Amino acid sequence: MKILIVSAEVSPFAKVGGLADVAGALPKELTKLGHDVRVAMPSYPMIENDARYNVRPIVDDISICWGDGSTKHAFVKTTTLDKVPVYLVGSDEYFREAIESKKIYSSGWEPYAFFAKATIEMLKNIEPKWIPDVIHVNDWHTGFLPVYLKVNYSDDPELGHIATVSTIHNLAYQGEFDFDILAAAGLPSDLFAMDKLECYGRVNFLKAGLVFSDMVNTVSETYACEIQTDEYGCRLDGLLRHIAYQDKLRGIINGIDYTIFDPANDSAIKAAYRRTDTAGKAKCKSALQKEMGLPTKKSVPVIGMVTRLTDQKGLDLIKKAMPKLMKENLQLVILGTGDPVYEKYFTQQSKKYPEKISVTIGFNAALAQRIYAGSDFFLMPSRFEPCGLGQMIALRYGSIPIVRRTGGLGDTIFEFNPAKGNGNGFVFDKYDSKELTSAIDRALAAYADPASWLKIVGNAMRSDYSTKRCAAQYESLYKTAMDRRNTQALAA
Ligand code: ADP
Repeated sequence: MKILIVSAEVSPFAKVGGLADVAGALPKELTKLGHDVRVAMPSYPMIENDARYNVRPIVDDISICWGDGSTKHAFVKTTTLDKVPVYLVGSDEYFREAIESKKIYSSGWEPYAFFAKATIEMLKNIEPKWIPDVIHVNDWHTGFLPVYLKVNYSDDPELGHIATVSTIHNLAYQGEFDFDILAAAGLPSDLFAMDKLECYGRVNFLKAGLVFSDMVNTVSETYACEIQTDEYGCRLDGLLRHIAYQDKLRGIINGIDYTIFDPANDSAIKAAYRRTDTAGKAKCKSALQKEMGLPTKKSVPVIGMVTRLTDQKGLDLIKKAMPKLMKENLQLVILGTGDPVYEKYFTQQSKKYPEKISVTIGFNAALAQRIYAGSDFFLMPSRFEPCGLGQMIALRYGSIPIVRRTGGLGDTIFEFNPAKGNGNGFVFDKYDSKELTSAIDRALAAYADPASWLKIVGNAMRSDYSTKRCAAQYESLYKTAMDRRNTQALAA
């Protein structure tokens, strides 16, 4: 299959969260399965100007007809992700402020409508010609691509056959704008209907992608069920139930790139280690304690967190539990950025308990690796979690996840049973700070028992959540999308 994966963030070029990890890892695994895979993403200055990526221009000027009759101009540059070709689709007008990952997301709809249209037009302009069988779009930023493809190109002899797949990485972000944008985006106003792009009186980019794609998936089986409920559906649960009824919805758990996340071969960490020889992990722990300004005591369990600081991540539970947690024999190492309220709160706590909490505000991939490697536990008490990659990386580094059973966390982390010796973490159900502290108590009890600890670290490091596993499921999803597209074409 010829597959084009389209995403606003792709690791290592631009990363804000888990979407980048998946968009960076999946193309490589699909290539290993024998497919011809390419990636398209917006062209950000931080990539263009990074000598490591050896970015070259391939198309200087593509004219894009805009809704108001004006013409916009796109360029395409290229780089590679291992051997996978990456198209950087840009313009002098959009995405120019992206000089670091923090700034990649622009406000407004226009950059994303432009990117969608320009990515399709790019296919007519690159040499040698390459027309994908399937285009895989991700989250709301790319939601207009399937719409343009079906509305404007369905009669095109080459582009009209392309199947589309839309992945929901996070339903909470939908890209909602006023009705007027439809005309400006060059789309007919009759698309402003409940069964198309309209959602509660606004144009909804995510919904657009879901309605117009041949297949839809989200990033864990549990989240695929949860989003059909009022509680987790973010006002799209009715649509998602309908999509599920049409047999158009799948859940595919994400994976991580085991070559990037590998404690046996990671230049960011103090000492290498592996499941069969974890001696290096103790060195990573004391190096982390030292780096974070915490007492370098071997016996004190270190709980790590690497996270966007948003409500989604269950931070209010930690806040409630803090007085109790600070009475325990533990250290908390937090790396995160996001909501200023949480940034301030955790910074204050680290000043109040300098021997127990270290907080680093910012995005720092290398420090993140040192936290995964140097911590004993990894905390993710999320309110909701479509998949979660943090817990998978933690397992790989032998840091035991303590999580709330929601979305992908429940699909990947299983409560440790000291009697049977099975399980790879600690799990609680109710969104309640007492449940959180009781899970932490169970975790600390296991830490204090050498036999249990040996067992659980082994179980964690043996868990397999590599992208390899999910690539085959995406392969089957693409095939189904192509079959559905062909059936529709025949019916038309
Ligand atoms: P989400 O996509 O909701 O942010 P995930 O757990 O799926 O959460 O993925 C988060 C990814 O981003 C992980 O690879 C995590 O290590 C990384 N990450 C999150 N915050 C930071 C940070 N402040 N610095 C470095 N890496 C981070």
